[in-house]
Amino acid sequence: MYDIIIIGGGILGVSTAMQLKQTYPDQRMLLLDKEPALARHQTGHNSGVIHAGVYYAPGSLKARFCLEGNRATKAFCDQYKIPYEACGKLLVATNELEMQRMQALWERTASNGVERHWVSQEELREREPNITGLGGIFVPSSGIVDYARVTEAMGRVFADAGGEIRLDTTVTGLEERADTVVVKTDQGEFQGRRMVSCSGLMADRVVRMLGLEPDFTIVPFRGEYYRLAPQHNAIVNHLIYPIPDPSMPFLGVHLTRMIDGSVTVGPNAVLAWKREGYRKSDISLRDSAAMLRNPGVLRVLKDNLKPGLWELKNSLFKPGYLKEVQKYCPGLTLSDLQPYPAGVRAQAVSRDGKLVDDFLFMNTKRTVNVCNAPSPAATSALPIGAHIVEQVKALD
Ligand SMILES: Cc1cc2nc3c(=O)[nH]c(=O)nc-3n(C[C@H](O)[C@H](O)[C@H](O)COP(=O)(O)OP(=O)(O)OC[C@H]3O[C@@H](n4cnc5c(N)ncnc54)[C@H](O)[C@@H]3O)c2cc1C
Repeated sequence: MYDIIIIGGGILGVSTAMQLKQTYPDQRMLLLDKEPALARHQTGHNSGVIHAGVYYAPGSLKARFCLEGNRATKAFCDQYKIPYEACGKLLVATNELEMQRMQALWERTASNGVERHWVSQEELREREPNITGLGGIFVPSSGIVDYARVTEAMGRVFADAGGEIRLDTTVTGLEERADTVVVKTDQGEFQGRRMVSCSGLMADRVVRMLGLEPDFTIVPFRGEYYRLAPQHNAIVNHLIYPIPDPSMPFLGVHLTRMIDGSVTVGPNAVLAWKREGYRKSDISLRDSAAMLRNPGVLRVLKDNLKPGLWELKNSLFKPGYLKEVQKYCPGLTLSDLQPYPAGVRAQAVSRDGKLVDDFLFMNTKRTVNVCNAPSPAATSALPIGAHIVEQVKALD
């Protein structure tokens, strides 16, 4: 019998496990993941940006946890000697409409507590000679890191403190009883007094295993990248982001300096036909049928038909993708865009057809379940883990 069982070896599950073990050092804890290693899904397939917290609605969990997470991630990396770089980020406006949106973003985020500077066209040219724009916002605290390495380090802290990690173990069923939760897996049954799930792209299915009917469903969105040819590794000094379109849930194709010295372009956002499907050709009949039967998902598809088709066109037609980045980096050509692995985002969609914006949790008497944790959840993993610890305390 375990005191706590944690499902999910992504950054949220592992951060939570580590902090639970630090809070309750004498309790028996088990972390389960179906993959042969930690961080095999969203955590190991992302842009690696330590976000600063500029975009998020004031007062939201995202705004609060991102700001705290930015500092906490850097402090964790300092403590465990994980390389990161606080390279800062420039949001670049390329036309008058984007200048207006940039002004609105500047005002909307005034209360988020993030240090930011208005950048004139001339200053933009000085800071980034290869980038073209009318102006920008500079955010010094944005940085880059490898989140898989952060997760592995958190896993070691958990294991060194006596926490047990079982990989290659798929959770297939859950039963919440009066005093325990039975976790059924393909490697046998485990019992815990309490359970936490951080199961990313499978979040709704895990909640359903508890016998609950969640009022959201997870929709997978592929994020496709290219890597720039190595001669362009010094093309930018900062992370370069477009000004986000407020009607779109994702941030737009950006130029990201990676911690290994390369530069990626991306990610776009294309509906995926398979959860955890990383190739364009990956299709799951089960996943596709479930999406197409869901009225909320159909509503999202209908409401976002135009941007959805636009993203799909650019996914299938590389020159279209190139144009997105040429808006602010005109010197790049088709041959500069080299293959790079895609990621798949877990985005919760509500029953009434809205993309759930904020982090979302669903608790029962003995369990805490993370239901929506899109970007910036990797940045926010330490405060989200601390938040879950508080929720677990409240289960007693
Ligand atoms: C393309 C892309 C770019 C992003 N860029 C950034 C960024 O730059 N900065 C940032 O802060 N965030 C970014 N994010 C978001 C961030 O990566 C995720 O929010 C974060 O990794 C979520 O972590 P997680 O632990 O919830 O999920 P995951 O990392 O997906 O982990 C979930 C785990 O649960 C396991 N699991 C699921 N079901 C079961 C089961 N039945 N049995 C056992 N195990 C199970 C899975 O195997 C998996 O390991 C990005 C995401 C994507 C996809």
